[in-house]
Amino acid sequence: MKEEVLGLPIDKIEKKIKEYDFSPRISNIGYVKHVGDGVAEVSLLNSAFIGEMVVFESGIQGMVLSLKEDSVGVILFGKEEYVKEGDVVYSTGKILQVPTGNGFLGRVIDPLGNPIDGGGLIFPEAYVPIDNEAPSIFDREPVKEPLYTGIRTIDALIPIGHGQRELILGDRQTGKTTIALDTIISQKNYGTICIYVAIAQKRTNIARIVQTLREYGALSNTIVIATFPDEPPALRYIAPMAGCAMGEYFMRQGERVLIVYDDLTKHANTYREVALLLRRVPGREAYPGDIFYLHAHLLERAAKLNKRLGGGALTALPIAETLSGEISTYIPTNLISITDGQIYLDTNLFNAGIRPAINVGLSVSRVGGSAQPKGMRQVAGRLRLDLAQYREYAMFLEFGTELDMATKKKIERGRRVEELLKQGAHEVQPIEEQIISFYLANGGFLDNYPVEKVKDVVIKYIAYLKLKYSSVLTLLREELQLSDQIIYQLHNIFQEFEKEVYANSTGS
Ligand code: ATP
Ligand code: MG
Repeated sequence: MKEEVLGLPIDKIEKKIKEYDFSPRISNIGYVKHVGDGVAEVSLLNSAFIGEMVVFESGIQGMVLSLKEDSVGVILFGKEEYVKEGDVVYSTGKILQVPTGNGFLGRVIDPLGNPIDGGGLIFPEAYVPIDNEAPSIFDREPVKEPLYTGIRTIDALIPIGHGQRELILGDRQTGKTTIALDTIISQKNYGTICIYVAIAQKRTNIARIVQTLREYGALSNTIVIATFPDEPPALRYIAPMAGCAMGEYFMRQGERVLIVYDDLTKHANTYREVALLLRRVPGREAYPGDIFYLHAHLLERAAKLNKRLGGGALTALPIAETLSGEISTYIPTNLISITDGQIYLDTNLFNAGIRPAINVGLSVSRVGGSAQPKGMRQVAGRLRLDLAQYREYAMFLEFGTELDMATKKKIERGRRVEELLKQGAHEVQPIEEQIISFYLANGGFLDNYPVEKVKDVVIKYIAYLKLKYSSVLTLLREELQLSDQIIYQLHNIFQEFEKEVYANSTGS
């Protein structure tokens, strides 16, 4: 057995040490003119560039964020007590780098890669610059592989594919984080590497999120990058870029990666905060003028790489918070225009008990349709129609209009579909089971059951399939389409199930 340190063989570590270039590369030095609120103004750093890493006399790192004629603005990654006026600042000529690798999976870290979960040291496989060029059009492939969220409304009506950028948008407390977490939870069945970037979230929130991921067995495949409101703004600022860089590393190795930015509204606010401190000229709504570019570039780095480059993918789920449902304010409109669609969460639906509170009319996925498996496409069209008709007719009901039989039937169908789309937090469902649920609704199998029983019938039917006819489920999971054979079986088994399990309990 070879000797190992932190999971790596000694000879490999020795080789790395030999290769490492210890000579400092100081391209320039400067002096601190002023420091406060997590930023420093530094004079004389002539050749500095935006994004360059600098090191202060005390060893604290910083990043150049603004350039003026006679000084540069630097954000600090450490406590500003260690930086004082007159201190020497060394420029490095390098963009800030962060560590990455498999060792980070299952861990909670800060954006510089330091563990903050009380666990041991993490041995990085590589250091990657936090900023990178986005893959070019020649490096990419169209989005065509489905990324299953496990959330019925999304997988059926707003399908997402690997490499897509889908915005999750909504007011406070409408279930935005839950959608992202559930998507991560669903990935454990599909081997996707997940990165959850928390921007300026309370410690109790992060603890709850980590606990949820652990409970559902999804933490071991996930890196949680956490930043808190009381930390230097620099950490909050670089968090999404750092997460993206860590994800790109896996993507380039052919892995499928999902990254959640929770949320970019807070990120924009952080950027506004530091920009004002650095006395940059404010633009619209006092945000710095390049906030659009910053987020566009970040999301452009999500991609589905072509086979030549290993076929990996980075899918981005940015989250944005709206105020009173207003989606036409600056940051939400920016993000809508630089993503491939949005999942819009509605406070009214949330309060009416329709959860997830997805407003299907305002939500869209512009590229994911081609990634949706055939079996889901077979049932989703009908579903959308049933739902739309129901919402239209339901208005008449409110006015007490007399309705004919056909319309009544459509309303009853719609109510059942709506009920079926309700889904509790973290109750993710595999795609083949979703297809079966919708097949039952479309085929009228649920029409004879009262609305409140509908979900129960479906759950019990699927349990019955698992118990007695698991081959049908396996076949559907493999083929992902409702072949005549599968339809025939599902139909017959349902009749048998009704007799055996649901006999005399229709209640209608
Ligand atoms: P914030 O604006 O504070 O970040 P948010 O929009 O991210 O909130 P969540 O934290 O995901 O919202 O959810 C808010 C609350 O709603 C939580 O208590 C969560 O458990 C509950 N919730 C979210 N989705 C569902 C659901 N599908 N079913 C039941 N409860 C849900
Ligand atoms: Mg949230």
